[in-house]
Amino acid sequence: MICPACENNMTLKKVMDIEVDVCEGGCGGIWFDGHELKKVDEAHEAAGQHLLEVAYDPEVDVDESQRRECPRCDSMIMMRHFSSIKREVEVDECPGCAGFFLDRGELNNLRNQYQTEEDRKEAAINMFGEMFDEDMDDIQDASWQQVAASKRLIHMFRFFLPSYYLKGKQKWGAY
Ligand SMILES: [Zn+2]
Ligand SMILES: [Zn+2]
Repeated sequence: MICPACENNMTLKKVMDIEVDVCEGGCGGIWFDGHELKKVDEAHEAAGQHLLEVAYDPEVDVDESQRRECPRCDSMIMMRHFSSIKREVEVDECPGCAGFFLDRGELNNLRNQYQTEEDRKEAAINMFGEMFDEDMDDIQDASWQQVAASKRLIHMFRFFLPSYYLKGKQKWGAY
């Protein structure tokens, strides 16, 4: 696999039960297929620990302002967005295969944000609660329709709370 950031040849790395491609000797970025990232993005998940130190070449310069193509899909441009409501870590996500590319150091930042899935959920619920000034459970259908009006928000919601979000199970319908 060719690194989407620096075009180095990536190295397949197996860590416990997951397989990722690391840009060893290049920019030090990491590619995660589908749901692999979920298995390592919290500090208590041991597999992620082994991925924090990817040998990289300090001479390799990465232009983070460039849009990147998915290394898996054919000419698919990845979306860049914040990985969490703390808005500290930006990741590249492929809309085609749902894979993620993280620049060097981003996994570490990600892992330091939330200790557990429960913390992540609480932070997101607090944010959505503040945004609509209502308790999550008390939000009426009408309010949810406002929420649904913003596809962007729905996307955020799915990303931050994948375990809370169940396709088609929301009051406001399927998105
Ligand atoms: Zn690279
Ligand atoms: Zn892809």
